[in-house]
Amino acid sequence: MKPWKLLETNYHYVKSHPVEVVVLPVGATEPHNLHLPYGSDAITTERIGDLICERAHALGAKVALLPGIPFGVDSNLLGFPMTVSLNPSTLDRVIGDVIHSMETHGIRKMVLLNGHGGNNLKNTLREYFGKTGMFLSLVEWWKVAADRYAEIIEHSNGDHADEMETSVVMYLFPELVDLALADDGAVKASRFEAINRGWVQVTRPWHIVTTNAGVGYPKKASPEKGKKIIDIVVERIGQYLKELSDAEINETFPY
Ligand SMILES: [Zn+2]
Repeated sequence: MKPWKLLETNYHYVKSHPVEVVVLPVGATEPHNLHLPYGSDAITTERIGDLICERAHALGAKVALLPGIPFGVDSNLLGFPMTVSLNPSTLDRVIGDVIHSMETHGIRKMVLLNGHGGNNLKNTLREYFGKTGMFLSLVEWWKVAADRYAEIIEHSNGDHADEMETSVVMYLFPELVDLALADDGAVKASRFEAINRGWVQVTRPWHIVTTNAGVGYPKKASPEKGKKIIDIVVERIGQYLKELSDAEINETFPY
């Protein structure tokens, strides 16, 4: 039994071990090029949640990992078969109900652990800011070790099923990756230069922009690269969870 993992722990343990911080993984269900599982964002984020809570628990933090939300905002990937999408407002409502449930139990600190770029959870923080006694913070795990990517990753300009993400899934779930199936992850340019330059933003229709849902060249991925990234991610977030668990909430929190 992992005592930090709510789905595996029992009431006997929970009764005598009060929780300070809850972690809520939020993923997505969508294709990832041809070689990664549909659940990449969901299962990876939940596994990272497990690893960071394990680390924080070992440091003495009072953390609990909630079951992850397997669906994310994917309206622009619905052109690919079997994608599942929640509207941003639906996802907000679900997270809001989880916040309310945890508040009912006296918990004041929640970390949203995001694993999907389409989930704009900074807006969720703002949606509930000032309306709840819960201190909400957001970690997008793929950003945590970004300052080290240049030394670990060869092709780091992608953002979906690219070398970085493929390496992480290969490390955590080697049995679910078949790298030989991957295409190059090339993306189509827009007819508008302003969109290509990035100062005009659109919701990209993924089935038109990509060939097989991948963005970024994945073929130099390896489980060794994935381990390097995950080790940094787990150490850094585990430390944050420990500090958050120990911190006392006052009027100026978190400053
Ligand atoms: Zn992904």
